[in-house]
Amino acid sequence: MSVQQLAELIQARQPCLVLTGAGVSTESGIPDFRSPGGLWASFDPLEYGSVDAFARDPLKVWSFYKPRVAMLTDAEPNPAHLAVAELEQRGLVRAVVTQNIDLLHERAGSGEVVEVHGSIRTATCPGCRTRYELERVVELLARADTPACEACGAIVKPDVVFFGELLPTDAVERAHELAREAQLMLVVGSALEVYPIAALPDQTLAAGGALAIVNRGPTPYDGRATLRVEGNAGEVLPAVLEAL
Ligand SMILES: [Zn+2]
Repeated sequence: MSVQQLAELIQARQPCLVLTGAGVSTESGIPDFRSPGGLWASFDPLEYGSVDAFARDPLKVWSFYKPRVAMLTDAEPNPAHLAVAELEQRGLVRAVVTQNIDLLHERAGSGEVVEVHGSIRTATCPGCRTRYELERVVELLARADTPACEACGAIVKPDVVFFGELLPTDAVERAHELAREAQLMLVVGSALEVYPIAALPDQTLAAGGALAIVNRGPTPYDGRATLRVEGNAGEVLPAVLEAL
């Protein structure tokens, strides 16, 4: 029933902006770092995921990131990513805003993907600002525990937003613009607790748009959502596609 309602809502309210969090990628085998059993419960983010930690001890930070990069590059888009891309191809989704750094929306075929926490697509040398593509970082990591800049020898840093680091301004501005212009914001797999994602539904609602949420577990916006579907994104979104 709610799947049918969501399909109708998507058709009725265009443009639709999809907002995704960690929950859309857990079915690809990528753990939610912030969940109670997640990585940040076992690794102190201030020691392994902060910009200060990287400045202090990049080798230690890479001891944490190296296996992560391997896991992320091995992961494949799941039915939720594929359904979002299919909705866009059918003209029913305008863009995706994501806090995920895993590139899985892009690999699933989504066109505009706004990455508000950066991504693993590139890494940058903090010394000379040389930029490295993921493929090159993976090659460097195959030979050493840390990727050293080929120009100056400094340890390069993934272009993902670390704790204590500023968010990418262009991406955040674009996300706000898309949120204001959306007639429907479809939240998928996010508890809407981490900024800037957590602020975006307010923008849509304030501009007169509606909110739909597909998530396992509650969010602070549940009371203001037109529709809430409790469930796994990889099951709900393909069912919505079928209902269209
Ligand atoms: Zn360098």
